Amino acid sequence: MSRTLQVTILGATGSIGLSTLDVIARHPERYGVFALTGFSRIRELFQLCLIHRPQYAVVAEEADARFLRTEFANAGLKTQVLLGRSGLCDVAAHPDVDVVMAAIVGAAGLHPTLSAIQANKRVLLANKEALVMSGALFMQALHASSAELLPIDSEHNAIFQCLPPKSETIAGKGIRRILLTASGGPFRKFAMSQLADVTPEQACAHPNWSMGRKISVDSASMMNKGLELIEACWLFGARSDQVEVIIHPQSVIHSMVDYVDGSVLAQLGNPDMRTPIAHALAWPERIESGVSALDLLRIGCLDFESPDEQRFPCLRLARQAAVTCGTAPAMLNAANEIAVAAFLNRRIRFTEIADVIEHVLEREASIPTTCLDDVLTADERARALAESWLNNYDR
Ligand code: NAD
Ligand code: MG
Repeated sequence: MSRTLQVTILGATGSIGLSTLDVIARHPERYGVFALTGFSRIRELFQLCLIHRPQYAVVAEEADARFLRTEFANAGLKTQVLLGRSGLCDVAAHPDVDVVMAAIVGAAGLHPTLSAIQANKRVLLANKEALVMSGALFMQALHASSAELLPIDSEHNAIFQCLPPKSETIAGKGIRRILLTASGGPFRKFAMSQLADVTPEQACAHPNWSMGRKISVDSASMMNKGLELIEACWLFGARSDQVEVIIHPQSVIHSMVDYVDGSVLAQLGNPDMRTPIAHALAWPERIESGVSALDLLRIGCLDFESPDEQRFPCLRLARQAAVTCGTAPAMLNAANEIAVAAFLNRRIRFTEIADVIEHVLEREASIPTTCLDDVLTADERARALAESWLNNYDR
């Protein structure tokens, strides 16, 4: 390789961001850190900048920017500090950047991810919410650019690895269906009555994966699998009835592709996000990720179950939104973001997350999306409806 590839990490202080830095630090001859961004945990962001010495750091608040500028000056670091959405978009699209890791959680990641695509970067997509909310427009922007989109979500990364090369769509490839595996989360065996009383701490204690709080709650409610179903439809040009969700509690098979000749291809590995991150960074080459070799003899057996949409209605709501399409997935995502935050703040019960989302989807009809404003308006409307549900509930 002739020169080090410059990497921007959007959401560097998060779980995916830190795993990305771990992989990059193993290959200093291949990758350099161009920019790191963080929304909170600014002291941690400062420490990361001391270690990785990026050209830019991006934060959301002016006070945080002032803090970083002072600390950088004291430490003799030349890192420049940028602010807000424009700062995020600038470091995503900067001409010196080769690779952008999109690892901001939620709708806040949409604009910088689109900026990276429009600037023809290699985009490593962890921020599934961005794709779910803007699906058709996101894919149009991708196809109009020469950007490369590589999925980081372990399931989609697995599917990517099991598909023939350059499969923009599964149509015409002899594929019967995509088998999207799900761990089932920490409440897989809980009865409906038990689900009503679970705490944020229980929801965030995932049996196999260590992740941010929002995606941990999504995994527990199975909304994560619902979002991933929509994500898979866009990434692989699949209809929602071509994507089957299968519970696989060990999280060793990260997903599968079922071909018409009866072959089923799977990607296996220990549940550690550094594997898909290393895969997407180096693709089509392979690099060390720090993940230990899979020991199938120790694991012993792999189990499979069908998902229960009665106990986990978020999965049903997401499938409906995938079929409805238009602004429905954006509204589903926005309502879910508000509901998950309310659950984490102990305002509502775990089982009421689905109630909030269902309320919003019933109140607001889906419309086709012709431009990004349609998506952003739907996102705002859904958030306002979800907030009004919560305000009535508090009273
Ligand atoms: P996290 O909460 O650990 O980190 C989120 C990052 O986004 C942090 O750096 C935070 O500062 C930043 N951020 C949060 N709100 C922001 C805002 N409003 N503006 C700008 N930055 C903001 O989350 P995570 O677990 O690393 O997940 C990140 C994304 O990757 C999510 O979309 C998640 O669904 C996806 N993902 C995560 C995993 C995993 O194992 N953690 C697996 C698959 C997909
Ligand atoms: Mg996943």
